[in-house]
Amino acid sequence: MIRGVKGTRDILPDEVGAWQRVEAAARRLFALYGYREIRTPIFEDTQLFARGIGAETDIVAKEMYTFQDRDESSLTLRPEATAGIVRSVIENNLMNTDPALRVYAIGPMFRRERPQKGRYRQFHQVDVEAFGVAAPSIDVEVIEMALGYLEACGLRDYELVVNSVGDAACRPAYVETLRAALRANLGKLSADSQRRTETNPLRVLDSKAPEEQELIGTLPRLVDHLCAACREHFAEVRRQMDLLGIQHRIDHRLVRGLDYYTRTTFEVTSGALGAQSSVLGGGRYDGLVKDLGGPDLTGIGFALGMERLVMILRTAAAAPRCDVFLAPLVAAGRDKAQLLQRELRAAGFSVLLDHEGRGLKSQMKRADKLQARFVVLIGEDELAKGLWTVRDMAGSAQESVEDGRIAGYLEEKLNG
Ligand code: ATP
Ligand code: MG
Repeated sequence: MIRGVKGTRDILPDEVGAWQRVEAAARRLFALYGYREIRTPIFEDTQLFARGIGAETDIVAKEMYTFQDRDESSLTLRPEATAGIVRSVIENNLMNTDPALRVYAIGPMFRRERPQKGRYRQFHQVDVEAFGVAAPSIDVEVIEMALGYLEACGLRDYELVVNSVGDAACRPAYVETLRAALRANLGKLSADSQRRTETNPLRVLDSKAPEEQELIGTLPRLVDHLCAACREHFAEVRRQMDLLGIQHRIDHRLVRGLDYYTRTTFEVTSGALGAQSSVLGGGRYDGLVKDLGGPDLTGIGFALGMERLVMILRTAAAAPRCDVFLAPLVAAGRDKAQLLQRELRAAGFSVLLDHEGRGLKSQMKRADKLQARFVVLIGEDELAKGLWTVRDMAGSAQESVEDGRIAGYLEEKLNG
């Protein structure tokens, strides 16, 4: 037997209802904030991610599925959505045709990580991006929408953490300050962090190695090294969050796993998730569009892990499989049942029919398992009289209903 690939999983029919609900909630809520859907390819030119996400990030350094196409060009399965969306915005000139450029995407992402609970090699994200607004109020609006979305999905147990990672004006100087502090403590750092001290010292801040935690707590903090503009932006984001009653905690170490972030970064975690506690993460990326060859257009967004969200939502009871189950009890009833099935489906009922000619008892058992609300019995008696026996499974009452009247009868019972 050939098995599914390690780190991938099937979303089976029994679970798919939960997925459809969180997808529907996203579409409904995001539309209220003026977002429209965008669908970009799941593979792109490798250069797009290398340049967009940053070569020293975990994603680009070790998590990408990269392969050579037959013409030798290098392609990569998208590890995240933002880079592809930014490419599409630039390529299709969307900033010049859309006066409020806000988009969302829902779909699979690919990262070659060690699979564990809540961490897969193919996983799914809901991704949101708003372009062209520099004001801090859009940061707050995006965060509010992210939390509103979690609430709409039924999540209550979560925490919002925010930080500012500065911008091109102030971050380089901070990075040097941080590097100097790290160099002075190299002996206390893991091999990974020693390397990152030279390549990308910010990454050391989100190290999870237990032996480094104490030292990291003593390192210079980004918020103390922000330029005036970034400091003001962050203060205004916080003031407006307070105004809207958005509870949050500042985490000085929240630099996030992608290099393109500027100023506001945020993450939502949930204790219900265990080790993989991050539900969604996002931030502002004011330089990214320009870095990827577009105009000087600001952006902010977030990505949410759907596996993790679905996992923590209370699993709803399985939905009934049909409104009506048709049970022909004699061979002569089958043609009638087939015609009736077409008529009822055209009237908008979900219908299943016994195709195997089973006896009454086994048909009733199956109807019960399918949680059918009604069973229509078509036996010899019924055929002779042109009346069908309709059993209401909710109360076990049954009535004879004339041929041709069934749809109206069921309509009245279900919606009347
Ligand atoms: P983590 O710290 O858990 O690795 P991340 O910082 O790599 O998360 P992002 O790149 O910000 O995650 O992606 C946003 C969200 O996507 C995460 O908060 C998480 O819910 C989800 N996610 C990321 N990687 C995976 C994965 N391999 N499997 C399942 N969900 C994932
Ligand atoms: Mg990760």
